[in-house]
Amino acid sequence: MSSAHHRGIGMTSMRTRNRLIDRLSEEGIKNQGVLEVMRGTPRHIFVEEALASRAYEDTALPIGLGQTISQPYIVARMTELLLEDGPLKNVLEVGTGSGYQTAVLAQMVGRVYSVERIEPLLQQARGRLREMGLKNIRMKLSDGGMGLPEYAPYDGILVTAAPAGIPLALVEQLRVGGRLVLPVGSAREQVLVKVVKTEDGYDKEILEQVVFVPLLGGVQR
Ligand code: SAH
Repeated sequence: MSSAHHRGIGMTSMRTRNRLIDRLSEEGIKNQGVLEVMRGTPRHIFVEEALASRAYEDTALPIGLGQTISQPYIVARMTELLLEDGPLKNVLEVGTGSGYQTAVLAQMVGRVYSVERIEPLLQQARGRLREMGLKNIRMKLSDGGMGLPEYAPYDGILVTAAPAGIPLALVEQLRVGGRLVLPVGSAREQVLVKVVKTEDGYDKEILEQVVFVPLLGGVQR
């Protein structure tokens, strides 16, 4: 890690991180593997330096270009839901953003494919993930509403921006038994949805209310 990331070390210390993990577990996160991976993942390198001191608060933070790094609770919750039925070989993430969720996933599954529609965000995330030494990630600038058919089928798909409805292209790119975890709804309010692909369609479970940025079309350079 570069020396810049060691500045403000007091605010990014192990004690500060431990407090966040205790809080996630009080909030109901049960998967110990998820908690341990998040304890070991330096969230402060995924935010601007000016916000590094707030990186271990359980809150979403701005990452520029109108986007946000997701709240740690929601990262933990979505990862837990994705992994509920055991280990996954390959996962597609739609909406790389800062790359923080990507980093957490990459430490828990075989391979992660992550797509982002805003090029500068993708480039920054690429640098951070390289800095962490994670090698099982493939990233692409693309509109993830269409999924990423070239590497399908996936054991899991996680979407970190909200479409108005469940994108069928994503369901199609799951293997049977594979799961899709995503927020669905309007710009103002959404619910977290878990979709499991079946032989002849899919099962859907609606979970808690959440707030995400909207899933948009096209790419932005
Ligand atoms: N998991 C990320 C969340 C970032 S916010 C993090 O914790 O940092 C959601 C991201 O989804 C934004 O970066 C946004 O640009 C991206 N996004 C929105 N619509 C998209 C689409 N159709 N394809 C790919 N990425 C998209």
